[in-house]
Amino acid sequence: MNLPFNDPSKIVEADRAHVWHHLIQHKPFETVDPRILVEGKGMRVWDITGKEHIDALSGGVWTVNVGYGRERIADAVRDQLVKFNFFGGVLGTIPGAQFAERLIEKMPGLSRVYYANSGSEANEKAFKMVRQISHRVHGGKKGKILYRHRDYHGTTIACLSAGGQDERNAEYGPFTPGFVRVPHCLEYRAHELGLEPGPGFGEAAANQIEEVILREGPDTIGALCLEPVTAGGGLITPPDGYWERVQEICRQYDILLHIDEVVCGLGRIGTWFGYQKYGVQPDIVTMAKGVASGYAAISCCVTTEDVFEKFKDDTDRLGYFRDISTFGGCTAGPTAALENMAIIEDENLLDNSATMGAYLHERLTDLMDKHSMIGDVRGEGLFRGAELVTDRETREPLPEKQVGAIVADCMAQGAIIGATNRSVPGKNNTLCLSPALIATKDDIDEIVTAIDGALTRAA
Ligand code: PMP
Repeated sequence: MNLPFNDPSKIVEADRAHVWHHLIQHKPFETVDPRILVEGKGMRVWDITGKEHIDALSGGVWTVNVGYGRERIADAVRDQLVKFNFFGGVLGTIPGAQFAERLIEKMPGLSRVYYANSGSEANEKAFKMVRQISHRVHGGKKGKILYRHRDYHGTTIACLSAGGQDERNAEYGPFTPGFVRVPHCLEYRAHELGLEPGPGFGEAAANQIEEVILREGPDTIGALCLEPVTAGGGLITPPDGYWERVQEICRQYDILLHIDEVVCGLGRIGTWFGYQKYGVQPDIVTMAKGVASGYAAISCCVTTEDVFEKFKDDTDRLGYFRDISTFGGCTAGPTAALENMAIIEDENLLDNSATMGAYLHERLTDLMDKHSMIGDVRGEGLFRGAELVTDRETREPLPEKQVGAIVADCMAQGAIIGATNRSVPGKNNTLCLSPALIATKDDIDEIVTAIDGALTRAA
């Protein structure tokens, strides 16, 4: 690896002195160097010390779906930026039109793409659409938005108001009114919901959403916002029968179904979009991370023509979606997204996500024979997790410090893995794996071997 500068220690010092890193406490940086990444290729990254890591998290936050070092994306973005980089607001661009058309081909039943930059922003757009429909169509009724315990929809105050992970919300209130929580659907912890696991659990869990709707009044509720598979809230896969019942409930009470595909979109769970795996038909879909695999900042809020039509009114000066996203006009995003989508198609990465995901699941399940600390293995496609417990009988979560030590042990071995949030402070106990969709059996074996070693040492 060729380091692009002469003195790595100067970079480390600049970072330590001036960068406020996301999501971590900085106290340890007084004694430990911040880790700076320099280069990436495929599944691998190299840090400033020259150490190689296999990245089982696709850029830490489940984003780099097509892997690092894609010259095809970088070349296309460069060419486009030199030709025409940006126009915000009302005028269109060629890549903006082309990517919207390609995206809609993958999403039968939906028809309009609204561009923004981050997952949080796309979700804010969706919330604003629901609110404006409530005023324009329902006389101010149907403005409430349902969200699920343990789902996450972003970091802004409105997104946190729709945030089901209490630990992330602590100390950021007061929150925006009009967001109402419904229960989650984790079968492994069905007892937390007062339900029995097994046949009928999925429908019963969905019925708990209906109970909230009836309590609040169906005419007060405009939308239900859900992740297809809950990501950061503990990798919760939907039980059988769950999504069918959710769709039925939305139709029965005239509630828009908003699916947050910020993590699952673009192949993460083996289909273009997570909802397609479960056979549901949403009204609004938001997406971000895998759309351009981190090669450019882009997010989309995609709607049906029916939702769009509600904003098409030239008799009224308020009759349009009065929203803007400055950098929604940057051509780097849709240009990178077009190439990213083409790579997924050309290299058959949806199939790879499904088959390698199943292999990863099998390998993690095999580890259960050896490590009683693994209570449950779950996930879809190349988004898998193992919930760690102190005792399989009681299912008491392994303390967060011990989980952190296992993650750090993997890191020391050169495998970047993560742990997701159980929504209870100190109970971040689910190991999380989301390798790039290009992962091979050898890559997965390498990741699982690191976890095996870390669990052995932890025991
Ligand atoms: N929705 C989900 C499901 C997410 O996991 C995230 C980010 N982890 C977001 C929304 C927010 O995306 P961003 O950080 O790009 O704002």
